[in-house]
Amino acid sequence: MKRAATTIENQRPGEKEEEPPSKSTIYSELEEEPPSSSSSNRYKFFEHISDSNWNDWKWHFRNRITTVKRLSEFVPLSTKEQAQLKLVTRRYPLSITPYYLSLINPDNPDDPIRKQAIPSVHEITMSSIGFEDPLAEKEDSVVPGLVHRYPDRALMVLTDICPILCRHCTRKREWRHGGWVRSNNEIEAMLEYLRRNGSIRDVIISGGDPLTLSTSHLESIISRVRKIRHVEIIRIGTRFPVVLPQRIDNELCAMLSKYSPVWLNTHFNHPREITAEAAEACDRLLRSGIPVNNQSVLLRGVNDTTETMLRLCQGLLRIKVRPYYLFQCDEVQGTEHLRTPIETGVKIIEGMRGHTSGLAIPTFVVDLSQGGGKVPLQPNYVLAQTEEELLLKNYEGHVFHYRNPNQRGSVEEATVIASSAGDAINGLLDDRKSKLKKSRGIVDADRVVVRS
Ligand code: SF4
Repeated sequence: MKRAATTIENQRPGEKEEEPPSKSTIYSELEEEPPSSSSSNRYKFFEHISDSNWNDWKWHFRNRITTVKRLSEFVPLSTKEQAQLKLVTRRYPLSITPYYLSLINPDNPDDPIRKQAIPSVHEITMSSIGFEDPLAEKEDSVVPGLVHRYPDRALMVLTDICPILCRHCTRKREWRHGGWVRSNNEIEAMLEYLRRNGSIRDVIISGGDPLTLSTSHLESIISRVRKIRHVEIIRIGTRFPVVLPQRIDNELCAMLSKYSPVWLNTHFNHPREITAEAAEACDRLLRSGIPVNNQSVLLRGVNDTTETMLRLCQGLLRIKVRPYYLFQCDEVQGTEHLRTPIETGVKIIEGMRGHTSGLAIPTFVVDLSQGGGKVPLQPNYVLAQTEEELLLKNYEGHVFHYRNPNQRGSVEEATVIASSAGDAINGLLDDRKSKLKKSRGIVDADRVVVRS
């Protein structure tokens, strides 16, 4: 049976939230879906493409849509729009996989998938706002391709090639240099730096998208990173599970599983990206022992409402992907039209908290310009605070007093240090507990600690 890129969000109306479905539940329901639902245009756009080609990531890669003319064969574009987009793509090129294109509703100019992949004239009309390199990655590059900003982490940028060119990309500045891949000498220089810096315990392999490299080439790099004794974990940053999930094949997963612990961070932004293919890709990774986390970017008109973010994050949990970060869109030139006020992100998190499992709530983060690093932003639940008490607001807006335990007093009083065990201690304990209950109203006096 042919499988369309059918979304799995909201597939099970009436199901209890606390009961995540098994994989087989998801798929049995998916398979009852008509193969060409409104969320997928595979059979409309690519009817003549065989399943073997459609399931081959290299076919998608070779057949990426990279010109406005080709794009206009799938998405209605007026002559004026085509002229505008040609101007945009001179500065910021275009690349969309057939798979990701099939998720776009061509008849909706405000389609949230379209906004991430199809250029907008605002990329050049507002391009004076922001920075080329807002995170100052060039300044923290210790050797070409290796960014070392935080003490125990380093970032390897192996290539600037990606399956799609996301319009909100932080490394948009690299696009005009064409596709590049770090040479063997450059990679060896990065590895040498990692070997010489014993404080680095976490190596992030990113890009561009590192999974554009062949599995064997990637293995030659990962295996050498794994040999560095002080590197504890390897993380891979990739958007392939979202934009070309066919890349996450058994060969890749088997290779990655050899170098455990390997973690994978991906980048779903909208619930419609959670397709059967994407779910299967994540499942293959998870079954290979590779945890999958998601880093969304908050984008105007894409996912800037609580309702969309809830559907996205709940959908991610259903495919066992952890919503990890929600990033404020960086101050990158050519992305201003997609950026939202900071308050939007805070309100989204506030709207989610209490209304869904804490597991589904990502940390909202601003990555500071000039390389200042990540700052988490949270709604303010503390209305007032003294040494004795806090005034806290809950998710429904109700206000509560909360006694602030006096650290020194309560711990010292509740801790009994005894030099020997036995009845004497038990007697002392019982006496101490009852005194505590009477004198201080401490309900949880059973937490008295005995050290012998
Ligand atoms: S996949 Fe990542 S690096 Fe590549 S264009 Fe998209 S956001 Fe940028």
